[in-house]
Amino acid sequence: MDKERVKKLVRELIIEIGEDPTREGLKDTPRRIADAYSEIFQGYDSDSELSVQFSEDSETVVAKNIQFYSMCEHHMLPFYGTIQIAYVPNGRVFGISKLVRVVEKFSKRLQIQERITKNIADELYAQGVKGVAVVADAEHLCMKMRGVKNDAKVTTSAFRGTFEDQKTKEELLKAMYVK
Ligand SMILES: [Zn+2]
Repeated sequence: MDKERVKKLVRELIIEIGEDPTREGLKDTPRRIADAYSEIFQGYDSDSELSVQFSEDSETVVAKNIQFYSMCEHHMLPFYGTIQIAYVPNGRVFGISKLVRVVEKFSKRLQIQERITKNIADELYAQGVKGVAVVADAEHLCMKMRGVKNDAKVTTSAFRGTFEDQKTKEELLKAMYVK
């Protein structure tokens, strides 16, 4: 990301909004946004090395309530919530920090919730595990602040391998939402 260019563009945007980019509160805003964007969108720079794994076999592993923050590609407004990941290992288990890194790789971009869910499932399934399930619950500021001003939460899911079986899927979903 070319931060100098982002700063210029944000300054233009501030003018178009009807504000004075030279006033005290706004004069550093282009720089702050450039800094914030390089963090919010760092998913584009991520290679999320998944290769380091513990060698230990296990039944289904469930990682609950991984927080994520993303920006919707339609309005460039935040959407955020939690992601549940379940997978059936094939001899190796991912560390939790690896799962968090995969979530960040795909959420810290211009995204839609459905695609984040699929991207995570595909990335983990490509590592050779027997099955993966990813469920995301999120609130979208573009729904809350504008348009229909609907407060609904959106749930999306993606299932690969053993979790594509309907019965397995239902049992898992039940287990995921038990506190
Ligand atoms: Zn949106």
